[in-house]
Amino acid sequence: MSTKDFLEKDYYKALGVAKTAKPAEIKAAYRKLARKYHPDSNQGDAKAEERFKEISEAYSVLSDEKRRKEYDEARSLFGGGFRVPTGTRPGQGGFGGFDLGDIFGGSGGDAAGGLGDLFGGVFNRGRTTAQNRARRGADVETETTLSFGDAIDGTTVALRLTGEGPCPTCHGTGAKAGTVPRMCPSCQGTGQSNRNLGSFGMSEVCKECHGRGLVVDDPCPACSGSGRAMSSRTIQARIPAGVADGQRIKLAGKGAPGERGGPAGDLFVRVHVKPHPVFGRSSSNLTVTVPVTFAELTLGAEVKVPSHRGAPVTVRIPPGTPNGRTFMVRGKGVRRKDGTAGNLLVTVEVMVPRDLNSKARSAIEDLREATAGADPREELLERAKEA
Ligand SMILES: [Zn+2]
Ligand SMILES: [Zn+2]
Repeated sequence: MSTKDFLEKDYYKALGVAKTAKPAEIKAAYRKLARKYHPDSNQGDAKAEERFKEISEAYSVLSDEKRRKEYDEARSLFGGGFRVPTGTRPGQGGFGGFDLGDIFGGSGGDAAGGLGDLFGGVFNRGRTTAQNRARRGADVETETTLSFGDAIDGTTVALRLTGEGPCPTCHGTGAKAGTVPRMCPSCQGTGQSNRNLGSFGMSEVCKECHGRGLVVDDPCPACSGSGRAMSSRTIQARIPAGVADGQRIKLAGKGAPGERGGPAGDLFVRVHVKPHPVFGRSSSNLTVTVPVTFAELTLGAEVKVPSHRGAPVTVRIPPGTPNGRTFMVRGKGVRRKDGTAGNLLVTVEVMVPRDLNSKARSAIEDLREATAGADPREELLERAKEA
């Protein structure tokens, strides 16, 4: 039987038994079917012969406790079906990120009977050696720049991630489409060759396969047989509402794919937020600086101030308001996760006019005259004398 056949076959189905079937049930099912399809009673029936072979093969595995266990493990690992790649499947990193090259890389020669070298290797030693243990994918870090508004509202951005992964053409096997790598004959698939130096056994990387345990007769033209390729993928990442400039966002499971069935790593996105020409942000509050006149602060006024993505709001400035005072407009800030919103903080700043018309100039001069008796620095100069 070829490896490909083996990997694709459902032995339980072949015998018509459940996956949980006891050895006695398997035996009984086999006997019944074997009698029915035996070549002696189906002379010249090619279909029956085929079926008989199938039944025998299934029974040879399922009747052997050890081999049945290996088979079950295989099917649970690959979700019940193991397809040997025969061509390119664009947009998919092999077996959902599973690196076929690494499965094969673990091939050992040790006895899986008639199961074929590949399988024996994977399931007898594959997951016990450190080299072959399932490994979590690496964490990946990237950056993105958001507009001021998108940072407030949350958005979805396309992130292009580059990294080394299984070659998409051969799905990491390194072999040309339609072919599979074979076990390295020099090291029997271990990737190591043993040298004896007196009483010391030295282990070194196999020269023939460079430690991979596999040799490729017909290399994949895309990766020259290495099974690895630099690839870039674009993922859509959801950036939550309310992120701040410089914040690092963790997107669990969006990092590099795991190896040998391990989970994917996490993706960390460093967010840069473009400044807004008018508004600033302080956690969930928005800030804005509003120019006012001396008269407005002195006499009091109602001034229109801009709100982010909304109609202007009116702020009442009481008479005698000092320059630089901050007013709070409730609920006009950044919307929080719980549905509430921060506030808009309005800071007033007196604009001193550069050019005055003659009427304004004479009014200011009148003001100077009218307030000449009160020196605003009198108290300051007095207090400066304190020790
Ligand atoms: Zn080798
Ligand atoms: Zn390739």
